[in-house]
Amino acid sequence: MSHVLKARWALLLVACGPTPAPTPAPTATPTATPTANADPVAPEPPPPPVRKDGTIYAEAYQMGTRFSINLWVGEQSPAAAGVAIEAALAEIERIEQIMSEWRPSSELSQLNNAAGQASRLLSPELFEVLQRSKMICDATDGAFDPTFYGVGQLWHFEPGAVPPTREAVAAKLSLVDWRAIELDPNTLRGRLARPGMKVGLGAIAKGYGVDRASQVLKEHGFMHHIVEGGGDTYVSGTKAGAPWRVGIQRPDGPGSIAAIPASDRAIVTSGGYQRFIEVDGKRYAHIIDPRTGWPLDESSSAQSITVLADDATDADAYATAVAVMGPEKGLAYVEAHPPLEAVIVTRSGEVLVSRDLAPLLIWPSDAPPVGDAAAKQPAAPAPDPAATPFSPR
Ligand code: ADP
Ligand code: MG
Repeated sequence: MSHVLKARWALLLVACGPTPAPTPAPTATPTATPTANADPVAPEPPPPPVRKDGTIYAEAYQMGTRFSINLWVGEQSPAAAGVAIEAALAEIERIEQIMSEWRPSSELSQLNNAAGQASRLLSPELFEVLQRSKMICDATDGAFDPTFYGVGQLWHFEPGAVPPTREAVAAKLSLVDWRAIELDPNTLRGRLARPGMKVGLGAIAKGYGVDRASQVLKEHGFMHHIVEGGGDTYVSGTKAGAPWRVGIQRPDGPGSIAAIPASDRAIVTSGGYQRFIEVDGKRYAHIIDPRTGWPLDESSSAQSITVLADDATDADAYATAVAVMGPEKGLAYVEAHPPLEAVIVTRSGEVLVSRDLAPLLIWPSDAPPVGDAAAKQPAAPAPDPAATPFSPR
């Protein structure tokens, strides 16, 4: 695994071009940097390039999506930052291996396959995510519910996919109940109580991976960074003393609706789906309403939902819950549950912003200012205020 990550890192260096470091720009097959006391047996990898703004940028394809790390180096060594970034990306891979319901070898798949049987000893990571999942299920009255997967498995969201019959959906609906995830915090053992039930962590594991990667960067002493994976962002510390700015992705194209200055906070955007299924002329997006077993009707659901929370695990799960609740109820829920905040783009293009977040948003210069109540504005095309100055792809 680390071999794969190193290879990607070398490619990244090539894509970056010349670096400010005094050593020559590395190539895809780096050789040892010639220094007086170089050890010919163990060549040191070259340090990653530091950009003009003092940050190092890296990305990797993981959990079926693109992850990126933007790290402010400060007075620390770029080589140490490179090591920290490698470790953070390796952590995401480790979490995916535990929590992917699509990998037959994952710990989650083993738990799913043993549904209805005796409890098993779980890794602390899976235990934690299941425990937090149950809390969010409870808090959202089951709008977020990872046991959706018992029926969710019947649905496929590629163009031309065939929907399951209503009978097939109804037959599996009794498998959807988060209360049947049984966890014992004293022993770290757990089980799925009903035979055939299944858990899918697609709405929370990515956020957890982002949080874990941020934690690893901190453990390496790098307190100031942004970790992002497929729309899930955690912002730690500052960039040279100023808050980072995170653009809220437009649901229908590149660029941002507005930017949020943020520090030690998670910002997760869900939506803008490429994947959907058409049934009787209606489009359905890939979030399942756990009460019906049916995906959300695209015409009445939000185009995109951005949720802010203290960490990306929560923000990821709550974004899915708000999607199930629908724009109006979802916004009301967020307003009633600090520290959650939200920006919701409705189907008609209105931008709904939670009360306390509205004054903080930085709108593009050509968009009207936000009032103190929920702002309602058309999602006009806008330049990305938080555009990353460098991307190797
Ligand atoms: P995104 O695809 O933008 O990351 P989400 O974070 O909302 O969107 O996650 C969607 C995924 O969550 C689905 O692909 C599925 O794996 C899972 N999921 C679908 N419906 C639910 C639900 N009601 N509760 C929990 N997880 C769900
Ligand atoms: Mg989610």
